Amino acid sequence: MSEAIEIYKAIGDHKKRLRAKYGVTCPVCPEKRPKAHPSILMPQQRCRVDGYVDPRPELTDQQYQEPQMNGISFIISQSGLRPLPSTPKQTPPGGGKLSVSQYVDIAEQFANGDTKANLARAYGVTHQAICYVIKKQQ
Ligand SMILES: [Zn+2]
Repeated sequence: MSEAIEIYKAIGDHKKRLRAKYGVTCPVCPEKRPKAHPSILMPQQRCRVDGYVDPRPELTDQQYQEPQMNGISFIISQSGLRPLPSTPKQTPPGGGKLSVSQYVDIAEQFANGDTKANLARAYGVTHQAICYVIKKQQ
């Protein structure tokens, strides 16, 4: 399993622990819709169904971090990764398509010792595409 997935899981677990520890059921929900499950509200959270706002003060940083002892903060500090990395979808140059002249360039660069992974990155195509090009040019 990759490290990033481990971190996402740890963040999810942390939120679950926080909800388990500080979440309370909305007291207004049972009046508004007795058959449905009441909302779980964190301090200062507003119920989306009836607009009830939990009156407790917001969690302090310490309270917020408490359930994650040896958990997410440790993993993040060790990994050097940000907690919620956003991965913008990159449009590869040329839209992932290679021209015939690029085929020749790729085959040449590969012959000169460039790796397939490097070439894939440089041309914005998949590793498989590079393999295919090199095979075709041989
Ligand atoms: Zn409610």
